[in-house]
Amino acid sequence: MSFPGAEGDASALCQACGACCAYSPDWPRFSLETDEALSRIPARLIDETHGRMACEGDRCLALAGKVGEHVACGIYADRPIVCRDCLPGDAECLMARDRHGLPT
Ligand code: SF4
Ligand code: SF4
Repeated sequence: MSFPGAEGDASALCQACGACCAYSPDWPRFSLETDEALSRIPARLIDETHGRMACEGDRCLALAGKVGEHVACGIYADRPIVCRDCLPGDAECLMARDRHGLPT
């Protein structure tokens, strides 16, 4: 991890960021989720055609709040695997933060 605060509590850091949730509609894709896991995500938040979370532009529809200030995932406990895998300080994180003008 490199940017200020990146050594701290990951969940607190992500709650003040959200950049990876608003980077590309191609990011919150489903992969190895079971049907049971997907059934816990509200249908209005799923883009069945593309097999991913529904997005508005680059931003996942499950994301609430303002990127870089305070955000929350509306389906945090049931979020896709790819979302669980993106960790503060990894390559995808830094790319997303840079796109949003956040320190990397
Ligand atoms: S871009 Fe990094 S710091 Fe921001 S929410 Fe995603 S994993 Fe967390
Ligand atoms: S499902 Fe949640 S964690 Fe995943 S991209 Fe959407 S808002 Fe972010």
